[in-house]
Amino acid sequence: MRYLPIHFDTHGKTILIAGGQGAAEAKLRTLLKTDATLIVMTPDPSPEILRWEEQGQLQIERRIITESDLDSAVLVYAATEDEPFDAEIAGWASARGIPVNAADQKDACSFITPALVDRSPVIVSLGTEGTSPGLARALKADLEARLPKTLGKLAHKVLELRNTLKRQMPEISDRQAVWAKVFGGALEDKLALDEATIQSRYDAVLSGTSTEKGHVWIVGAGPGDPGLLTREAQRVLHAADTIIYDRLVSQEVLDLGRREAEYIYVGKDPNGHSTRQEAINALMVEHAQKGARVVRLKSGDPLVFGRADEEFDALDASNIPFTIIPGITAATAAASQIKSSLTTRGENTAVQLVTGHGEDGFTELNWAALAEPNSKACVYMGVKAARFIQGRLLLHGASKDLPVTVVENSSRTNSQVLSTTLGQLPQAMALSNIRGPAILMLGFAPRIVSKGRAHEVASAQDRAKA
Ligand code: SAH
Repeated sequence: MRYLPIHFDTHGKTILIAGGQGAAEAKLRTLLKTDATLIVMTPDPSPEILRWEEQGQLQIERRIITESDLDSAVLVYAATEDEPFDAEIAGWASARGIPVNAADQKDACSFITPALVDRSPVIVSLGTEGTSPGLARALKADLEARLPKTLGKLAHKVLELRNTLKRQMPEISDRQAVWAKVFGGALEDKLALDEATIQSRYDAVLSGTSTEKGHVWIVGAGPGDPGLLTREAQRVLHAADTIIYDRLVSQEVLDLGRREAEYIYVGKDPNGHSTRQEAINALMVEHAQKGARVVRLKSGDPLVFGRADEEFDALDASNIPFTIIPGITAATAAASQIKSSLTTRGENTAVQLVTGHGEDGFTELNWAALAEPNSKACVYMGVKAARFIQGRLLLHGASKDLPVTVVENSSRTNSQVLSTTLGQLPQAMALSNIRGPAILMLGFAPRIVSKGRAHEVASAQDRAKA
């Protein structure tokens, strides 16, 4: 960082602006918002600058600036639109130790003015050290849209309450705890709180009657690649106090959480027992009741084979508000990876998402329906059940030539795609050493196979691994 952003006190100070045309106007638009006395030195003021003079917002000295004029100023802007002259003015200022900004001459400047998002007294200043004004403008526009117009009022209200609180609570750490509670809890619209809401939250915290509870976000972590997260998932991960995550959530996704957050691993093994689920529910409730922002990270989409309903019921039973953020489920990730539609016009009008494993072992599915020609399904938790599934389907009349694709570790760098047939399934999986997590895609072949380019599968796999 070459330029240090500081907020300069302009109250009772004089700022000198040399120049009276467009460049000076541009500087003045920001300077007019300050408390400073503004003196514009120009023999030839523009109509806009004259208007500001009429309104009493600035004074004009109708002559060319000279070196001694600088004596009264704390800041100088050289904006005469005469480059050598601006550089000369900058030289005078530097010799006197007065900070100076010369329009469009970065090397002659001792400071540059940042782009501002003004919600006085809340000011966001942003700069790119002159590298990319376009980027600064985009950032500014983004922040302008995001920061509520009432932010300034909110800050004034907080100041008023802080002054009262200081008299009541001498310890700074106690006061900080009060503010953490007033601004704690749910993320939504925290910046848009109005004065009355702030007052009532503050009163509730001080009287110990605060009912502020935490909030739980049930978040789909996707199949592993952090690029496949939603922006909302990323946002709440970044703000969470507690992150409760499953076995299949990737490290890259976890890395998006705050370092200070508390991370709790609640992985179930593939034959996980139901008691563990109760422990997970209890953890979410316990942390939320302490006022924490809890993110419950579940692999893929939380509503697909994720036992989400049990978690919702537990949260409802304790009156804890929760929000669900969907994610990309393993089946769609796998389909994307093999470039195959899940539904193809003229081929299949439905696709089933089924589980190969339930609480009491392998799942009995509607085998007759699954064995019908053109039936397609994605089997979750099906690695161990592969031989069982094969047997049941063949028994119900499915063809042993039915294409089956197994996608292991979809979207991850160690992903493996196996293109085989129902007849070969268990042997092929054993040969490829597929251990999961994997999706068994019944009735699906990778696009390059269905387009008669089967020989490319192996090299595509190598590329996926690379
Ligand atoms: N809610 C998850 C599914 C949880 S059940 C989702 O929507 O994806 C766990 C099963 O999901 C695993 O046994 C496996 O079948 C599948 N799975 C999860 N992540 C996977 C991945 N990256 N690649 C392939 N299958 C995956």
